Amino acid sequence: MIQTLADAGLFLPFVTVLGLLIGSFLNVVVHRLPIMMENELRLDCEWLGAKDAGQPEPDFTQPAGRTFNLSTPRSRCPQCNTQIRAWDNIPLISWLLLRGQCRDCANPISVRYPLVEAATGLLSLLVAWVMGPSVATLAALGLVWVLIALTLIDADTQLLPDQLTLPLTWAGILMALSGYWPVSLQDSVLGAVFGYLSLWSVFHLFRLLTGKHGMGAGDFKLLAALGAWMGWQVLPLIIVLSSLVGAVVGLIAIALSKMGARAPMAFGPYLAGAGLIALLWGDALINGYKAMAGL
Ligand SMILES: [Zn+2]
Repeated sequence: MIQTLADAGLFLPFVTVLGLLIGSFLNVVVHRLPIMMENELRLDCEWLGAKDAGQPEPDFTQPAGRTFNLSTPRSRCPQCNTQIRAWDNIPLISWLLLRGQCRDCANPISVRYPLVEAATGLLSLLVAWVMGPSVATLAALGLVWVLIALTLIDADTQLLPDQLTLPLTWAGILMALSGYWPVSLQDSVLGAVFGYLSLWSVFHLFRLLTGKHGMGAGDFKLLAALGAWMGWQVLPLIIVLSSLVGAVVGLIAIALSKMGARAPMAFGPYLAGAGLIALLWGDALINGYKAMAGL
């Protein structure tokens, strides 16, 4: 925890600005990664189709369409297709200066973009403030940024891409191995295994009892990642927090829509939110609970 202004120095402003810039990049990831996944799936289906039809395997080394990844093509206005200039792409500031409108066609630019940038900046500041300047804080920032991307992608598409959850798990285990992170390798590995298995068991039990799918396999992998980063000890806290908040939000949604009960609800945002709380205040919460329960 940062106690004085002198401790903070340049660290907090630096992390906040870095968070704003990362937030801008996360907007791109959240928009493009699901499209990239869909393109990949389409290629796989094409390959299977060709295989089933007894045709030669299509040559995927020569991409048929235009390149589409996180860096190519450059961002364009979805209305008038004008490439966005670098100075109109400054996090938060450009949107405010442009008053939320495209410079060329004056169509509105979604307020979501500056909101994601501001939220990423503020959460980065919070992590830096609570954890103080250290290597562990930089790693925690990486974890939080991926959690933000996963939250938004899951809310948009009901998907938690393996391209994010799996590397996040390996990164958590490697941090435990590195010695720069306050979780032992043993706690990290057990956290990953039990994180995955706990939701996997709930899923299969729920399916046996109700014949319905309550959550997706992405949720197991996300909890495995959180277990890898924070150790198996925080898993009960994360499950309780995410279920509580998820249930409250779910009930409100049902009350508001009266038919929302059937609409699929993304669980990833609640897991990610509970993970953030566990990262910042997990020890205090667990110790407080133990004291209350007289353990
Ligand atoms: Zn435009």
